[in-house]
Amino acid sequence: MTIPKVFVNSNMTATFACESCGELHTKDVSKFVGHKTRVRLKYKCKCGHTFSVFLERRRGVRKEVFFKGLLIQNQKAYRGVITDMSLNGIRFKTTDKARIEEDTVAEVKFTLDNRSRSEVLRPIKIRKVFSENCLGCEFVDTNHFDDLGKYFLFHFDQKK
Ligand SMILES: [Zn+2]
Repeated sequence: MTIPKVFVNSNMTATFACESCGELHTKDVSKFVGHKTRVRLKYKCKCGHTFSVFLERRRGVRKEVFFKGLLIQNQKAYRGVITDMSLNGIRFKTTDKARIEEDTVAEVKFTLDNRSRSEVLRPIKIRKVFSENCLGCEFVDTNHFDDLGKYFLFHFDQKK
């Protein structure tokens, strides 16, 4: 049996459904958010069913996406794909091997899959180099006032 993962919402709650009756439960998980290890919550539903969920502690909702884009550093553009995104950052997979170091800054340019195919350009910081072509990046500014902000609002429904 696989234990489902649930996300922490911006108000430090997590919402999950009972596996047996489908009833939705919202739980205050603020005290777990700072935990370094994986948090497993056990929950007993009104229907009597007991079940577990793993708490996804990364702040903000992370979503799997597939946006083609460019990562630009030192006037070199690396072609690639954004494979997941949250309010805080993205994961960027370059098509070719990239020599990019952690804690450096770059720019990322990509196209959203919204109706107007908005182009987004953002300064980012390379937080983690997972491999030669997979980078964990953080938005330098997490206030998103342009079409990316709207995208988060309408495509990242936290109540799902
Ligand atoms: Zn139930």
